[in-house]
Amino acid sequence: MAKFPEAEARMFHRVFVCKKCKSKIKAPILKVTEGQISCRKCGKKALRPIRKK
Ligand SMILES: [Zn+2]
Repeated sequence: MAKFPEAEARMFHRVFVCKKCKSKIKAPILKVTEGQISCRKCGKKALRPIRKK
């Protein structure tokens, strides 16, 4: 398996979107699922993966 920076980013640093203010947040998926990441703008912890339309 080749090491691509993009692939690693997909695995460890997925982009999430704040449910409230819809700003994008780049954070490790583990920290997001553990609730350690909050939105920089509004401080909410309601984050969604960016993939969902
Ligand atoms: Zn927010």
